[in-house]
Amino acid sequence: MKLLSTGNPKVLKGIKQGYNTYILHLAPARLSGHEVCPKRTVGCTDSCLNTAGRGGMFKRGEVTNVIQEARIRKTKLFFADRDGFMELLVKDILLGIKQSERLGLIPVFRLNGTSDLSWEKYPVKMGNVFYTNIFEAFPNVQFYDYTKVLGRKVNGISNYHLTFSAADGNDNDVTKAISQGYNIATVFGIKKTVPMPELYLGTPVYNGDESDLRFLDPKGVIVGLYAKGKAKKDTSGFVKYPTISLKIAA
Ligand code: SF4
Repeated sequence: MKLLSTGNPKVLKGIKQGYNTYILHLAPARLSGHEVCPKRTVGCTDSCLNTAGRGGMFKRGEVTNVIQEARIRKTKLFFADRDGFMELLVKDILLGIKQSERLGLIPVFRLNGTSDLSWEKYPVKMGNVFYTNIFEAFPNVQFYDYTKVLGRKVNGISNYHLTFSAADGNDNDVTKAISQGYNIATVFGIKKTVPMPELYLGTPVYNGDESDLRFLDPKGVIVGLYAKGKAKKDTSGFVKYPTISLKIAA
């Protein structure tokens, strides 16, 4: 079973900047029977990018497809055979490093493409050596994720970058995350033709749709994302509506 995939439109933007992103997509929420998003909200669950792109294309009358089935199989494996799963992950990362070297690209890895697991908690074995987690096993490789879980024990893991995600009902966590130095990913209900607001919550907004390479973002920003897919119809508060001031010529 192959765990990592590459090639979504945002990843392709990263290639232009010299980075090859490999993403692990598990089945989010409890779709597999196992919860992988401990701090999910009603709004983010409804608008989850799990059904964006090919993952959301279903034949008439069907409620699943090969992509969704593969995500469920991977998630079940993660819970049923952790060692076997981590072994496959190591194999895929090694392969990604080799492939990227051949292409002259820098490999980077995002393990929570459609989940919010605390990867720092899971030990891994490579060869005969045990490591505290996947980040320690690949100290020269950049990993990054979005998370809604505050207080993750990632201080001191220099090759793992986290961006905190705003959603419906997690305003207090957003305030704490800002005070802890996180950038905040925020989905805005504006059309792609409209520029991002300059400020949100009094903080500069950086356009996060230019690429997915969050570890390159400036510090102390709101990472603005345009609403996509189901999020365009969100009424839960997951999608935020900034006040845009228009300059009117005198
Ligand atoms: S936490 Fe993330 S992956 Fe999980 S349901 Fe919400 S948006 Fe999807």
